[in-house]
Amino acid sequence: MLDETHDPSLRSWVESANRPDADFPIQNLPFATFRRPEAENPVLGVAIGDQVLDVTEAFGIDSIETLMSAPRGRRAELRRRISRFLSRPSSAAETMLTPMASAELLLPCEIRDYTDFYASIHHATNVGRMFRPDSPLLPNYKWLPVAYHGRASSVVVSGTPVRRPWGQTAENPAGPPIYGPSRRLDYELELGMFTGPGNAIGEPIPMDHAAGHMVGVCLLNDWSARDIQTWEYQPLGPFLSKSFATSISPWVVTMEALEPFRCAGESRPESDPQPLPHLSPGAADAFDITLEAWLRSARMQEPMRVSRSNVSSLYWTLAQMVTHHSSNGCPMRTGGLIGSGTVSGPGKENRGCLLEMTWRGTEPLELPTGEVRRFLEDGDEVILRGWCEAPGFRRIGLGDCRGVITG
Ligand code: CA
Repeated sequence: MLDETHDPSLRSWVESANRPDADFPIQNLPFATFRRPEAENPVLGVAIGDQVLDVTEAFGIDSIETLMSAPRGRRAELRRRISRFLSRPSSAAETMLTPMASAELLLPCEIRDYTDFYASIHHATNVGRMFRPDSPLLPNYKWLPVAYHGRASSVVVSGTPVRRPWGQTAENPAGPPIYGPSRRLDYELELGMFTGPGNAIGEPIPMDHAAGHMVGVCLLNDWSARDIQTWEYQPLGPFLSKSFATSISPWVVTMEALEPFRCAGESRPESDPQPLPHLSPGAADAFDITLEAWLRSARMQEPMRVSRSNVSSLYWTLAQMVTHHSSNGCPMRTGGLIGSGTVSGPGKENRGCLLEMTWRGTEPLELPTGEVRRFLEDGDEVILRGWCEAPGFRRIGLGDCRGVITG
């Protein structure tokens, strides 16, 4: 629901929040868990411009879990209080700010579960076409949001170096597999979403209640070792090719902040089946969120943009993912993480991973230094970015999600 916190004329006394290109204007107010300089314990924070407000000190909320487990109405009320606090100057409030550059940003919460979907039909079609040119999509794709269970313990916060994984690969079909460092390391440009209040085991979440279980979103990079994946994935899906690291951005951009950017999403072609009744979406369940992937090799001064896509092009909405996930009675828990799957669009410039972008390495990417990339090399940094824009509203950003590959 829109309220006074979305008013585009609202300004903060934290001047850096009022710049037109700021990711964190007062209309955004994303949460993070952070440590103030020389402090022992992490606290709950909210981003405002280039500062972090200590929400624990200002509002007495001990942790992000307390916020995430609260009903939707309570979270919206806290947002209104923070918005008022940051729009009306008070001398006491300045001591509650930490410059973002000196704040230690941590994982938002202990990741309770991690499931990664496969909701971009453009991504699924591209990848499917590489292996099954005649029928890229499997028969279930248009009936349910496909997913695999990830490993919560391997989710890391942006900035954490990612060590190239070792695993079994079988490049030579005539010989045995070998165990060694992955030579086809990839990123995946995704949106992550945190679940809020859970459901009891055995009690599915219907579509019209799904929004009550969604807290907010972040950027998510589902690092993937394609050579390990190719050898291990049949018949039970990805396993060690994914569970060595998944990076997320530290900011939880709330569903309340995303409200102005709801949209109908890319409509299903008339020839496609309508979802079964229990997965029937609402009128504006999709979100207009632009995502970008940038790459910087060790020799590059500045990163180059590799791709751009939009969450609104997903075939399945976040609400459908929550409802489908719980449709067998599986409990969602506070602090669970759901990945959208690689967000690709219809064009080559919209391909959200190198597997697609270089078409399994057959169309290498040229970097400004003259280097070429089929997959990631040691020293490469991948930076994901995201933001929302809509007429009549302030632009908001998701920050960025970074990771450097180490050997
Ligand atoms: Ca993925």
